[in-house]
Amino acid sequence: MTTLKAVRGTRDLLPPETALWNHIEKTARQVFTRYNFGEIRTPIFEDTALFSRGVGEETDIVSKEMYTWEDRARAQSEKPQSLTLRPENTAGVVRAYIEHKLGETGQLQKLYYVGPQFRRERPQKGRYRQFSQIGAEVIGPPSAGSESPLRDAEILEMLATLLDELGITGWTLHLNSVGSSADRARYNEVLRAALIPLAPQMCVDCQRRAVTNPLRVLDCKVPEDQPIIETLPKIVDSLDEASKTHFAAVLAALDAASVPYTRNHRLVRGLDYYTRTTFEFTHGGLGAQNALLGGGRYDGLSEAIGGPKAPGIGFAMGEDRLVLTLQAQLDQNPAPPQIADAFIAPLGESLNPAALALARELRRQGLRIELGDGSFRLKKSFETADKLARRIVILGEDELESGILTVKTFASGMQTKVARAELAAYLSAPSND
Ligand code: AMP
Repeated sequence: MTTLKAVRGTRDLLPPETALWNHIEKTARQVFTRYNFGEIRTPIFEDTALFSRGVGEETDIVSKEMYTWEDRARAQSEKPQSLTLRPENTAGVVRAYIEHKLGETGQLQKLYYVGPQFRRERPQKGRYRQFSQIGAEVIGPPSAGSESPLRDAEILEMLATLLDELGITGWTLHLNSVGSSADRARYNEVLRAALIPLAPQMCVDCQRRAVTNPLRVLDCKVPEDQPIIETLPKIVDSLDEASKTHFAAVLAALDAASVPYTRNHRLVRGLDYYTRTTFEFTHGGLGAQNALLGGGRYDGLSEAIGGPKAPGIGFAMGEDRLVLTLQAQLDQNPAPPQIADAFIAPLGESLNPAALALARELRRQGLRIELGDGSFRLKKSFETADKLARRIVILGEDELESGILTVKTFASGMQTKVARAELAAYLSAPSND
């Protein structure tokens, strides 16, 4: 029989690496809470139309990368529903905002999420078919101030704070404005005209995009196309006064908060719903897949999927890439491995129940405990304990009766007797190491 393996582009995460994932999620939750965000959890699969209408038919995600299937029809007369594993979470959050009429509160909704996303991309380092995103969205009716450039700047400042608190150094914030949907339409036409003489020399994807959605030409990664793309008109020259003023206000607030950024004219992002501010944080240590996170404003998304006017701004961070970045930094400066505070060695199988009771007592006091097994010889328990724990606690008949336990600390080689009532305090005191 062939051995079954995890599907291409998916991965198992094992300890101790999972501790790093938990650390990242915990830090993100703490930072988001300080900015007064609350957590949202949306389903992992949705109606396919949510993504084709929300993200855009012409995007790589929708046209090539979605895991889509037809659900079984409930009745013969019923058309089967097309379902898709979510490739991103913003469309789901906006759907939930509409479905639960969150706009009627009249307040800004500040929501964050953590969870898996699915895209059928070509797997490589930092790019997987199941990956995890940590993201947040600020969305609400215009009367709540959802269009304000201050919201854009606040999100960017929050991201800078989160990366700093995670200890990720050396990131770059790339910033652009793709204008309102009218600006984008105008720019699309300017690009379309500019591409007529150029497209025949470009890759087949660009030849198609030049006709269907010229903006997407700016995402092209084919090296031969790059010099041509550099000569194309810039979107900044197609922005109307309102979009220019909005962008200038974002930059002014970032300057005031000392958040460093660079302007990047080609940053139009791979999803159609973006308007005005778009951004990406990159990290040099990641290689080809260097984007740690991306996001932007999506003032028309709610209406595109049938909701009320609800401008918003958000981002998604690639958690896999945060882990890779932190691992690379830790490799240069490794943290000591996490081991248990104590290993409990019962002397004989008959002491196993008492050992479980002792372990329960210590664990409930917050200690990290490995529970041995009295069916093993003491020599073997010592060998195992030496690998897994800082100390060994021996529990025999005498110890059980007297309530005085023998504790050996491996680092110092010191062996001593400790009263059961004092054991938890003794095991947690670093001075006893
Ligand atoms: P996007 O939703 O395409 O704007 O991506 C936001 C972030 O998610 C990117 O900057 C990456 O960090 C991460 N990301 C996107 N696609 C993948 C993938 N296939 N594997 C791992 N991370 C990804």
